[in-house]
Amino acid sequence: MKIENILKERQKWFEWKNIKPIYEEVTKFQVTSSEFKIDDIIEIKTDEKLKPEIENIAKMLKPWRKGPFKINDLFIDSEWKSYIKWDHLKPHLNLENKDILDVGCNNGYYMFRMLEMHPKSITGFDPSALFNLQFDFINKFIKSNIEYKLLGVEHIPLFDKKFDVIFCMGVLYHRRDPINMLKELKAGLNRGGEVILDTLIIEGNDDIALCPVRYAKMKNVYFIPTLKALYNWCEKAKFSDIEFIGKRYTSTYEQRKTEWIDGESLDSFLNKDQTKTIEGYDPPLRAYLKLKY
Ligand code: SAH
Repeated sequence: MKIENILKERQKWFEWKNIKPIYEEVTKFQVTSSEFKIDDIIEIKTDEKLKPEIENIAKMLKPWRKGPFKINDLFIDSEWKSYIKWDHLKPHLNLENKDILDVGCNNGYYMFRMLEMHPKSITGFDPSALFNLQFDFINKFIKSNIEYKLLGVEHIPLFDKKFDVIFCMGVLYHRRDPINMLKELKAGLNRGGEVILDTLIIEGNDDIALCPVRYAKMKNVYFIPTLKALYNWCEKAKFSDIEFIGKRYTSTYEQRKTEWIDGESLDSFLNKDQTKTIEGYDPPLRAYLKLKY
């Protein structure tokens, strides 16, 4: 199917019973004047008269996974302190005058952070109607020309535009065929371009991957490789060079339950002393890599 047809089909997702009321509220919501400061907290100041409407829409849009955002006095304390990851990546990025894609962009927190680096264009792919609406809501204040598409990584090869930098963070372990996914990312790059990859790994010197039924209560985790196995995948996907940026464990300071999500967060997915997941695996460790075309 052609991309235009896929997008047309997916526009119907906003008609779904649980999404439609939120879609209608966000669509009719109008912001006349606003100022914003893009930093660890994406902070927006706007007309105080909008307060009841803002609170109502922000609550309808739960769960807020990525952020935080602040709109006047309303602090949307998302499950993740997303700036911790951003602060690690930032020194390794040069986005000036480049075409950027963020695959699995969620509500666009990182895309808003990218604005300060003056890229030529920013496009976000994420197949979640709810996160698309969170983005639309925040962008009513910021009025950026970021383009959000209800697409997944699997659509990159069909997409006309190519990119200089593709961010793909927190997606690879959710894919059944990780090597194919890496090839899809490469297919979206301009020559000389690069992928910024963030993904779960396990410790170890062998080139092997964990294949859990559930990992930290997530059923949609397929493979978690050692760094060495991850390098092998990247090599099979024919990236010419791999640069290691760093690795870090996710802490319960970075990912935790707040009033802006329903349900549990990382501390419920780990054992008491936080040395293992509740399934008995090593706790979440992430690697950041730069993959060159
Ligand atoms: N990149 C963000 C969010 C990671 S969460 C971060 O690093 O913080 C994973 C995201 O992938 C979710 O927003 C989910 O909606 C999205 N996703 C689900 N299926 C996808 C697919 N096929 N392609 C790309 N993204 C997908």
